[in-house]
Amino acid sequence: MAEPYVIKMPQLSDTMTEGVVVSWEKTIGEKVERGDIVATVETDKAIMDVEVFRDGYLSGPLAAVDSTVPVGEAMAYLVNGADDVQREGAAPVQAGEEEPAAPAAEPAAAEPAAPAAAAGAAAVPEGASYTISMQQLSDTMTEGVVVSWEKKPGDRIERGTVVATVETDKAIMDLEVFREGYLSGPLAPVDSTVLVGGAMAYLVDSPEQVVDEEAAPVAAAPTGTAAPGAAPAAQPAVRAAAATPSVALSGAAMASRPHGRGATPYARAIAGQRGIDLNGLRGSGPAGVIVAADVQGAPAAAPAPAGFPQVEVPGNGRAMNKLEKAISDAMTGSLSMPTFRVTTHIKLGALIKASKAQGASVTVTIAKACALAMQQFPKMNWCYQPQDKLVERANVDIGMAVSTEGGGLVVPVLRNCESRDLDALNEDFKDLVERARTRRLKPEEYTGSTFQISNMGMLGVSHFDAITTPGITAILAIAANTEQGSACTITADHRVVNGAEAAMYLKALKELVEQPESWMGTTGPAVPEGDWDYDVVVVGGGPGGEDCARDLASHGMKVALINDAPFPGGECLWRGCIPSKAWRAAADRIRDRLDDEHLGITPGKPKLDWNKLEASRRRVLETRGDMALKTDNGVKIKYIQGFGRFVDAHTVFIDTSGNSADPHTRARLGNKPQGESVTFGCAVIATGAPPFVPPIPGAIDGLAEGGGVLTSDTVWSLPEQPKRLVVIGGGAIGLEMAQLMQDFGAKVTLLEARDRILAEVEPEIAKHLTGVLNDDPRLDIHTSVNIDKISGKAGAVQVAYKDADGKRHTLKADYVIMGTGKRPVLDGLDLDKIGVATEGPAIKVDVHCRTSLGHVFAIGDVVPGYMLAHTAAQQGRVAAATILGEDMRYDQDKDCGVIFTRPEAAFVGLSVEQAKAKGIDAVEAKVPMNIDAKAMINNEQHGLIKLVADKQTQRIIGVHLLADHADTLIGEAVMMVSANLTLEQVGNAIHPHPTQTELFGELARRLASRLRRSAKVKQK
Ligand SMILES: Cc1cc2nc3c(=O)[nH]c(=O)nc-3n(C[C@H](O)[C@H](O)[C@H](O)COP(=O)(O)OP(=O)(O)OC[C@H]3O[C@@H](n4cnc5c(N)ncnc54)[C@H](O)[C@@H]3O)c2cc1C
Repeated sequence: MAEPYVIKMPQLSDTMTEGVVVSWEKTIGEKVERGDIVATVETDKAIMDVEVFRDGYLSGPLAAVDSTVPVGEAMAYLVNGADDVQREGAAPVQAGEEEPAAPAAEPAAAEPAAPAAAAGAAAVPEGASYTISMQQLSDTMTEGVVVSWEKKPGDRIERGTVVATVETDKAIMDLEVFREGYLSGPLAPVDSTVLVGGAMAYLVDSPEQVVDEEAAPVAAAPTGTAAPGAAPAAQPAVRAAAATPSVALSGAAMASRPHGRGATPYARAIAGQRGIDLNGLRGSGPAGVIVAADVQGAPAAAPAPAGFPQVEVPGNGRAMNKLEKAISDAMTGSLSMPTFRVTTHIKLGALIKASKAQGASVTVTIAKACALAMQQFPKMNWCYQPQDKLVERANVDIGMAVSTEGGGLVVPVLRNCESRDLDALNEDFKDLVERARTRRLKPEEYTGSTFQISNMGMLGVSHFDAITTPGITAILAIAANTEQGSACTITADHRVVNGAEAAMYLKALKELVEQPESWMGTTGPAVPEGDWDYDVVVVGGGPGGEDCARDLASHGMKVALINDAPFPGGECLWRGCIPSKAWRAAADRIRDRLDDEHLGITPGKPKLDWNKLEASRRRVLETRGDMALKTDNGVKIKYIQGFGRFVDAHTVFIDTSGNSADPHTRARLGNKPQGESVTFGCAVIATGAPPFVPPIPGAIDGLAEGGGVLTSDTVWSLPEQPKRLVVIGGGAIGLEMAQLMQDFGAKVTLLEARDRILAEVEPEIAKHLTGVLNDDPRLDIHTSVNIDKISGKAGAVQVAYKDADGKRHTLKADYVIMGTGKRPVLDGLDLDKIGVATEGPAIKVDVHCRTSLGHVFAIGDVVPGYMLAHTAAQQGRVAAATILGEDMRYDQDKDCGVIFTRPEAAFVGLSVEQAKAKGIDAVEAKVPMNIDAKAMINNEQHGLIKLVADKQTQRIIGVHLLADHADTLIGEAVMMVSANLTLEQVGNAIHPHPTQTELFGELARRLASRLRRSAKVKQK
């Protein structure tokens, strides 16, 4: 009576020592046929099928789903009859049998090497406990050549010992053994070819059993095919569990794995025998895995087409070696691909310099640039899968051709180029190249690339193209770098991308390669060698230009600050932040006096003395301006009053014809240019952005002297506070002006074309603020309006508009203030003379504030992004650091702002909406101000605070406030976001009582607790 057959955990990869049972595909008692999949198991690399090559009935005890079973240990049993099936308990005993089957715990190593096909049977040493067989070490490998024996017969073998090296079709690899014992012959001789699954040697339990002899050498099978009988004398052993390379059963070559799917070993063996291409088959196994039945049902491959013409040449061709054959097969496969080519010239100089500066290989840096360009054109990383499927891949695994020492190319794959940094990629690449040269790569290191690069620049070729192979869509060929650049050619599969897409991909790549600073960071000090008048010229003396100039000067740079006003400070000091906050301070006092009643203080009606306020405001501005100029002079910045205009890439002309002594009004250009030219190594453009007036009929005309239209440039010359005012535009400037003027006593109407105010502010905060502002007694806000016309003159202006329902209205006012935004004016700078790229009305820059010209920078309101003074100042410091050769970046996601209304709106970082748009799983918690004791005491109960955190890391990524004193409260929030603090850190910080800052700690603890609880529920 036969023993019950033990279904053991098979060794499904060379590194696998145990597997996890994922599912049972048959139930206990079910009839199992040869080739059936009985279970799936998770190896250290993938989830794979366990096939059984016997007939019988599945019997318990079954290893439980999710349990871990060492390789070689029992997972279940097969018995001959339904009556022998055992549902639980010990291993089944077949009827009439005295002894139980091999104990479940016994590893496969202890399983006697099964007698194999006839020829080899005699060679198996007595007492052999394990057959060391030729493993399948690559997808395409059907046989291997024994290169060396690292152990000799009689040597003690421990788990994980490398016993031999074998040559596959692609590399020379170590053959490890995961059993213990003594190495025994017959050993497959060095240089002999052994079929995958064929025996190479044996393990025996004791030194006495060792056979010290070689197997008889056998004529090698023709490359790529495994003719029956061509195997060495030691024939392949047949292992009990299915995953042993079953191709050895027949001696035929295993079919290659299908692209992007699995196929069971048995299915591949049958397909190999019958010459069937698995890519063309439907898989009926789990997740579309092709199983034996799918192959058996498929028609055998038609005889090879007449195909390639047989060319009669004199002489006898030698058989290709494995590598040559593998390349030949891949190239033949590429003939099935409808490809096209696109070429562009890319200048590699900057990238080569940047790579050197960072100690990175140029090839790796190009690979990283290729991966970054794929963020815009991900299709370049997909692939066509027969039949008519596209595989979309997020991981960019770039194969890069490397010549091996013995000739031929291997293509090591640099994994996850999209997410790993240059240092990590470089380390990997060094190691891969070293081993690729000597063909010591593992299969997973040279297979499965998603894009490829072939760089022949070092060989001086002026142009070439490379061949794509199945499994990728595109390959990039890089020729030698010339003055015109290097000819870079993409060969691409037209089933996946079209020519225009490939061309746009190349354009994106060109930008990244030619401007490596944009993603690699600084490549050393930016000031070029030369006899310049100034190391750096900064054009524009606002908060951006001034901070930049001071940082540079403090590092010993010779700096000129060119500003078209008698004092530095720019819009911020003279027409923006500071004067508006002087007005706000007066408005606050009026408001506070009116609000003191709840504390028992009898209010007296406050009265505003406009002239006194204006005198005080002007004094502050002039004092600050004077202090700033003295400091600039003191730190040896050369302050030059005049209008800067570029003459060429290293020269600026300073036009002094429009110079005026009045710092309070924006400078105007003179009629007849006069002045001097200065040369510079680097330039920083910090010219700001004046108010923008949209083409509303009557708006521009109304700006003229005596007209009734004011902007943030001209509002400062009002002779008295207006009594009736219309403000157009519900951004920060418009809202601040509207509310403070109502606090001064004016009747104010604010008209906004959009359906909400403060488009840049978190929606709930903006909505809440609208309600609070509308509660102010003399302020009305109307959104979704359409302004038809502005007419009249100062003191008697009319504004005609349609409301959201299309109803017409006309408002009468003393003035209209245009709060319709700001826009850079680049015309006067003559940027076309230096070729700086623009983005809409602004100057395009990277995170280092570098323009498209490596030595020219731009900062502040003249570049896209927030138009805020601290943003300009930070960007000024970033530009200075970059010029000095440091790596500093501007990160808008950590920037902040305050809208100085009452209550104030303030923000730092991201809202939930913004975070989600960036792919961050964000959550928020909020608290209303009216629960806070301090807010109650002061009757400052309007508003709320919101904390936004990244769910995964629990870091605080945004804080949004509407609260009195938000301008101070935001300071703590700025530290949370800029320092990447976690909910736990903020929750554990001790906040002083009674202050509104306690709300931060409370919110953080609450959100952390919510996340903790929801994580627990999920686990359940
Ligand atoms: C009413 C109002 C209130 C504001 N409130 C705030 C606030 O509370 N907080 C905040 O952060 N921001 C506020 N801002 C915005 C802030 O003023 C600007 O964002 C900031 O000033 C921009 O700094 P900058 O250095 O880029 O440019 P600017 O401050 O505009 O400085 C540019 C300077 O360059 C000069 N210039 C231009 N062209 C040339 C040239 N070719 N040659 C020589 N000189 C030239 C300009 O005359 C100016 O002096 C406010 C703005 C306004 C209008």
